[in-house]
Amino acid sequence: MEKIMTMGEILVEIMATRRGQSLRAPGSLAGPYASGAPAIFIDQVARLGHPAAIIGCVGDDDFGWLNIERLQRDGVDTSAISVLKTAVTGSAFVTYRLDGERDFIFNITNSASAQLQPAHVSAAALKDCSHFHVMGSSLFSFRIIDAMKKAIEIVKGQGGMVSFDPNIRKEMLRICEMREALGYILEFTDILLPSGHEVSLLTDAADEAGAIDELFAKGVKEIVVKRGPQGCSYFARGARLEVAALAVEELDPTGAGDCFGATFVTCRHLGKGPEEALRYANASGALAVRVKGPMEGTSDFEQLDALLARP
Ligand code: ATP
Ligand code: MG
Repeated sequence: MEKIMTMGEILVEIMATRRGQSLRAPGSLAGPYASGAPAIFIDQVARLGHPAAIIGCVGDDDFGWLNIERLQRDGVDTSAISVLKTAVTGSAFVTYRLDGERDFIFNITNSASAQLQPAHVSAAALKDCSHFHVMGSSLFSFRIIDAMKKAIEIVKGQGGMVSFDPNIRKEMLRICEMREALGYILEFTDILLPSGHEVSLLTDAADEAGAIDELFAKGVKEIVVKRGPQGCSYFARGARLEVAALAVEELDPTGAGDCFGATFVTCRHLGKGPEEALRYANASGALAVRVKGPMEGTSDFEQLDALLARP
């Protein structure tokens, strides 16, 4: 079967255990947890039983091997992950404010993940890839952006599709290369998976309806706007669907969007219609927030069906 692939940062996440905890003072922390938006995405694809692979770099350290072993256990092909002797695996420290907002301290731009470059991308690495997913959070250096462009070119050249989750973290917009790259990737995007506030960041339009039209004009075919506990909205030319979120207790929202996107893309790839794909994606996001740890809430079809069958 054809593969869904992605490329980008593979990290560990270490989280403050108490809401409102400051990272300026000692406190108890939990982790390390396997993380990195592309890694969470591809883990979720594999959990659904679909062939999945990721291109990325980790250090030859416990944080790196934690990720590789975890991804392999869930069925991800990790043969395109480079284990570097001269760099350490990236990390993110996260704390939750009392209002629910998250603050991150990232060690990514100096980590193994930042070593990713066009040399890691080849037709051989992307063999059998019919769908390539781009996370905006990955686009933090010129080399990575060039690698991403190369991957997109190869996949499009072999008739594949591209999905794009802008996944813009305010900490990352400080990097100007990233801002510019978002526009470039958009030109090649078939399926766009923004969060609510990102729709306007990507366009010049004054409101969401205008932004959606602008995105269709750029060639995007399907747009799913993720709205956290408010569910999601789907747009295709001439079609709009609204799906309410499932009622679950939110323990940790990190990773919900990545799981949601992975499940939507996989379902569409399996030939399911937009409505069914959205139902599964919505359930996938809901299951992700119920569990602490960014990758700990990935799920298989059996778990999704069980949640959807709940009265
Ligand atoms: P992030 O800010 O991490 O990038 P995101 O914007 O990509 O997140 P969200 O909108 O937070 O993604 O979540 C994706 C989907 O997961 C939502 O559209 C919804 O279907 C589901 N979801 C998220 N939070 C909840 C919740 N509290 N209860 C139920 N479902 C949720
Ligand atoms: Mg997201």
